[in-house]
Amino acid sequence: MTSSNRKNKQEEKAAPFELNGTRVMPGTRVKVELPLAQLYTQTPLNVPIHVIHGRRPGPVLLVSAAIHGDELNGVEIIRRLLRHSSLNRLNGTLLAVPVVNVFGFIHKTRYLPDRRDLNRSFPGSETGSLGARMAWQFKTQVLDRATHAVDLHTGAIHRANLPQIRADLSNEDTAAMAAAFGVPVVINSVLGEGTLREVAEAQGIPVITYEAGEALRFDESSIRAGVKGVLNIMHHLRMTGPRRTRAPMEPHIARSSSWVRAERDGVFLPLVALGAWLRKGQLIGRISSPFGGEDVTIESPCAGILVGRNNLPLVNEGEALYHIARFEEVREVAQNLEVFTSDIERGPGLTGEPPIA
Ligand SMILES: [Zn+2]
Repeated sequence: MTSSNRKNKQEEKAAPFELNGTRVMPGTRVKVELPLAQLYTQTPLNVPIHVIHGRRPGPVLLVSAAIHGDELNGVEIIRRLLRHSSLNRLNGTLLAVPVVNVFGFIHKTRYLPDRRDLNRSFPGSETGSLGARMAWQFKTQVLDRATHAVDLHTGAIHRANLPQIRADLSNEDTAAMAAAFGVPVVINSVLGEGTLREVAEAQGIPVITYEAGEALRFDESSIRAGVKGVLNIMHHLRMTGPRRTRAPMEPHIARSSSWVRAERDGVFLPLVALGAWLRKGQLIGRISSPFGGEDVTIESPCAGILVGRNNLPLVNEGEALYHIARFEEVREVAQNLEVFTSDIERGPGLTGEPPIA
């Protein structure tokens, strides 16, 4: 060998990556079927895991979607990500799981067959109920192999979220990932018990949650921002080479956030859209009744940005209608959001595919 040390370093080769007995050689990609459970019809419940193993060593990034089976934007984000050319020259390994909760995905529901929430079942157990076993298998076989993770979510059914990152910002590495993703709004959120995020952070795997759009719906802007965000994370972790697009803008971290609930049951008429800049006391909605009587007006309890909204007009008293995030510099957030949204909407799709209209 006559090559210089530098060249040797560049050509340092990754070792094969093993997942559930499948050996993935450096510079190749394989779809591994991971058996997570078996149903009482003897039907195996397999979860396909895409392993894209780079030629050179580096981080192992897990990107997972549909851990809530009806949250679909992440499924499309991963489909587009897997076609992106930057994966051809990867440092490290990408573990992409388009559908974690396969059962919920089939049934178009958030939950598991035993009505449990898979994202409240971690770390799970080897001998527990179906949900606990699925969580345990996923944690030990996939999550434990990762060095970093991005979990893709949407709002619940009939609830839409403005594209946003939720993360435990007390961990420096997690905070850096939250900033690198490149969406303008970041919410510092406590770790819910039994979530993938909680067990990952507990064992030192920095993880961020991307929340965008609504369950059972595709939203092109949320999908585009998600694909771009994951690519930004890969760039941040030095898994991909230099890029031609400009660096993402600094995000704003919400000081706090709160829900506005229905004061009465009836028909809800929203008057503000996701991303709106709300002033304290501003009229933001009404609740009327198709059977007559006075309308109830809804005023914003604080200044902030609308980051979540109920889209179903039929509401019961006490139901959450709006999620408002408060910021120090709310005007700046509103301005950045405008630029971000128009960039996402007008910019070219990252995979050359026609947009979902
Ligand atoms: Zn979710």
